[in-house]
Amino acid sequence: MTQLIPTQLIPGISTTEVTPVPLAGGLVFGAAVIDVQSPFDGELLGQVPALTSADVDRAVAYARKAMHERPLAQWQRAEILDKAALLMAERRDDFAIAIAREAAKPIKTARGEADRAVATFQFSGAVARTLTGDTVPLEAAAVGGGKIGFTLRVPVGVVGAISPFNFPLNLVVHKVGPAIAAGCAVVLKPASQTPFSSILLARLLADAGLPDGYLQIVTGSGGTVGNALVDHPDVALISFTGSPDVGWGIRARAPRKRVGLELGNNAPVIIEADGDWATAAAKIKLAGFAHAGQSCISTQRVLVHQSIADAFVTKLVANVNELVVGDPMAEATDVSALISRAERDRVVGWISEAVSAGGQVACGGDLDANGVLRPTVIVNAKPEMNICALEVFGPVVAVQTYESYDTALQIANDTRYGLQAAVFTSDIAKGLQAARTLDFGGVLINEVPTWRADHMPYGGIRDSGNTREGPAYSVREMTEERLIIISG
Ligand code: NAP
Repeated sequence: MTQLIPTQLIPGISTTEVTPVPLAGGLVFGAAVIDVQSPFDGELLGQVPALTSADVDRAVAYARKAMHERPLAQWQRAEILDKAALLMAERRDDFAIAIAREAAKPIKTARGEADRAVATFQFSGAVARTLTGDTVPLEAAAVGGGKIGFTLRVPVGVVGAISPFNFPLNLVVHKVGPAIAAGCAVVLKPASQTPFSSILLARLLADAGLPDGYLQIVTGSGGTVGNALVDHPDVALISFTGSPDVGWGIRARAPRKRVGLELGNNAPVIIEADGDWATAAAKIKLAGFAHAGQSCISTQRVLVHQSIADAFVTKLVANVNELVVGDPMAEATDVSALISRAERDRVVGWISEAVSAGGQVACGGDLDANGVLRPTVIVNAKPEMNICALEVFGPVVAVQTYESYDTALQIANDTRYGLQAAVFTSDIAKGLQAARTLDFGGVLINEVPTWRADHMPYGGIRDSGNTREGPAYSVREMTEERLIIISG
C-alpha cells in the first residue's frame, strides 16, 4: 500500500491542490473546480476540474487520433489487461481507501470491490485473446457459388463512458476493460462525487502500458460534460450506468448512437414455506444493506409466505441488528452514510410515508449519532408504497406476505424495473416456474437477487436498461461485425 503523506486522505490524491485529469496528451487542471467531500463527515477529500464541452471535444478528437495512430493488436490488448489485473491486486488497498472515502462504502466492502475489479480485468483480458468473428457459408445461396465469407470484429470507435457513484471502481472497469479488449479508446465521465477511483485507475492503466489517448477523463457535471459526450458526433457508443431518468434521457437524446443502459431496480425475492428461509434471512442481512442498500440489485422487496412470516422476520431482524453502523474507514463497519444528506432525507421520508400507510418498522428507521440512517426492516409493506413501487437505494428492506405462490410471482413482476429477481424453494418445479415466469434479466433460485459474478451477462429489461454487461457481452456492443467476401 502507498504511504499516505500528511496532505492526503486518499493515497496519491492531494487534499489541498486540484488533482488534474489525463486529457489530450497532458494533465488538465481546468478553469473551475469541483470540491469532493466525504459523504460521511463532509471532510474535503480533494478537488477535480469542472471541465467544459470544449474539453470534451479535445478529448474525443485525441481519442480518435490515438485509435488511428496507435491501433492495438489483440495480443497487446490482452497483455495490458493482464498487467492491469496484476497491478490492481497490488494496489487493492489504495483503491479500497479511495472508494471508502469518496463513496462512504465500508472499507471491507470496498476491498471486495477492488478484488472484483481484478476479476473484471482478467475476464476482459481473456476476451481480448479470444475475440473472433464468424465464417459465413456464402455457398449456401445459389448466388454465392465460389465465394468465401467471414466477419471481423473491429472496434466500434470512441466509447463515451458515464458511470455512477455506487461502484466507482468496478463499474468503471466494466466499461474500460471491455473497451480495451475491443480496441476502443474511452472518454470517461465519472460521477462527480467519486472521481478519484477513476483517476487512480487511469494512472494504473498507464503503468500497465495502455497507450496515451486510450483513457481520458472528463470530470464535470452531467449536464455539461455528460451531455457533450452524448451529443458528440464522433462518439460511437455511450455506455451508461446510472438512474433510469438520466439513462432514458440519454437514449432519447442520441437516437443514432449505440447507447447501452444499465439502470435501477427494486429487486424482489420470494421466500416459499418449503424454502431455506433461515439461509435467506442470513443472506439478506448483507444483500439488503451492503453499501447502505445503494446497489442496483440490493434486495429490496421481500415476499414471504404467510405461514413462515413471523419466524422469518424474527430471524431477519436479529441478523440485521448485528450490523455495525459507523465510519466507513472503521474495520468493523458494515453500514455507513448514504451518498448525501438529501438522499438520506428522501429515504427517511419514504419510511415515514410507509408507516403512515400501515407499515411497521421492525428495526432501524432512525439515525445514529453521526446522522447515519440505521438498517431498516419494514413489515406489512404494501406494493403501492414508495419503498416497494420505486427504487429505494437506501438501507431499507420491505417485507410483504402472500398466500399463494402464483400471487407472489405476480407481485414480483408488477414493477417498472426488471434487473434481477429471486426465489427460495426446495421444490424444483416451483424454481422452474419462477425461471419461466419472472420477467427479469436474471432469475436466481435459492440465491438472493443481489448475487453477481463479473463475467455473467448482467442487465435488465423495462426501466432497468437495454443491454448486458460482463466483458464478453460488452465487447459485442463495442465492436462492429465487418463482413469480408472473397470471390474466387
Ligand atoms: P445518476 O444520477 O443517474 O448519475 C450517473 C452518472 O450520470 C453520473 O456520472 C452523473 O454525473 C451523470 N449524469 C447526470 N446527469 C446527466 C446528463 N444529463 N447527461 C449525462 N450524464 C449525466 O445515478 P447515480 O445516482 O450516480 O447512481 C445511482 C443509480 O445507478 C441507481 O438508479 C442505480 O440503480 C443505478 N445503477 C445501476 C447499475 C446497473 O448495472 N444496472 C449499477 C449501479 C448503479 P454527476 O455525478 O456529475 O451528476
